[in-house]
Amino acid sequence: MIFEVPFVSGPPTDLQNKYINEVVSASDSFWKKSLTRRCEGWFFNHLGGERYFVDSCTTALGACAILLNLRPGDEIIFPSFTHVSTVVPFVIQGAAPVFVDVEGSHFCIDADKVSEAITDRTRAVVAVNYGGWAPDYVKLRELCRQHQLKLIEDNAHGMGAVHQGCRLGTFGDYAAFSFEKQKNITCHEGGLLLINGEDSLEQVEKLMNLGTNRLDFDRNKTSHYEWVGLGLKASFTELQAAILLPQLEDLERITSDRRSAWRRYHDQLVPYADKGFFSVPPVLKEGDNAHLFYLILDDQSIRDQLRAYLNAQSIEAQFHYFPLHRSVFGSKVGRFVGDDHHTSIAGMHLLRLPLFTGISPDQLDRVVAAVIQFFTS
Ligand SMILES: *Cc1c(COP(=O)(O)O)cnc(C)c1O
Repeated sequence: MIFEVPFVSGPPTDLQNKYINEVVSASDSFWKKSLTRRCEGWFFNHLGGERYFVDSCTTALGACAILLNLRPGDEIIFPSFTHVSTVVPFVIQGAAPVFVDVEGSHFCIDADKVSEAITDRTRAVVAVNYGGWAPDYVKLRELCRQHQLKLIEDNAHGMGAVHQGCRLGTFGDYAAFSFEKQKNITCHEGGLLLINGEDSLEQVEKLMNLGTNRLDFDRNKTSHYEWVGLGLKASFTELQAAILLPQLEDLERITSDRRSAWRRYHDQLVPYADKGFFSVPPVLKEGDNAHLFYLILDDQSIRDQLRAYLNAQSIEAQFHYFPLHRSVFGSKVGRFVGDDHHTSIAGMHLLRLPLFTGISPDQLDRVVAAVIQFFTS
């Protein structure tokens, strides 16, 4: 189905086409990878760390899962309100997922609930920067330090966001980024693994080279290379880099456009939130990347009716995650610790409105008008 106001739209076409010709006009560009190097350079300059471009955020999280060297029975703590991709790669490596609630203001993992869920089997905490907002990283980092746990950021939503003076993606030992089509910066499919500490570098280098010591060979440190451990092949091609690079170069403008669109929703909808029709997210802080805009409705039935109403007017609105601890498979392999104050509300009452780079004021106003009409007619 084609919507007149789609939920998301791909990368801005003027940017998308900027470097493509450079790739397809030279036959050696795919192995030279100069655009990929420039993307890596951007990340090095803005976030530091060791960077590995991969085919998806899910693959980057899979690499994190392998780097944990899990033993049977090891537990990892996740928010229940997240994408399946946050958890699946760790379960594949044998982790038992332990789900906790999110906090009620931005639906990020609740650090106090994490604290209650830690056992002597816990190995890591995976925090999701939901909507480009951050959980309480001061508390989470302190907990992970005390209990010797790895802190992993699922930063699929957080590209371009700055929290307490640091970019999202630099708070965890590892961070995973997504450049999938719904994200702020996108090459349709793509991801990045960022390693912020020193301690896994030797393993990650081999992991990313199919489990071989190929780079030691390239450095003349060994006479041949061979299979030394678990490995991944997760391609990121020059075509993806060609689409990504112009958006990285233009990240400030992309982010500020999104923030303007977000504020246009917020300014117009706050009066109706004050009347009690729904609630809206807290006002943007400096550094927020305006990844998504949502309404919280009074119950699931109103949420679903509003969604159908908007869809009928050719406006594509979407709900978000079904709580993993209540899902068919999640309830079987995982357990939930503590109370579910916010997870199910986020899962059942939340509706996301269209938001993408290049959405026009007219489109935004049309969505707002339809939402208001739903409640006032
Ligand atoms: C989109 C998303 C992912 C998966 O990203 P891919 O690049 O499609 O693998 C993981 N976690 C969250 C929170 C996401 O929104």
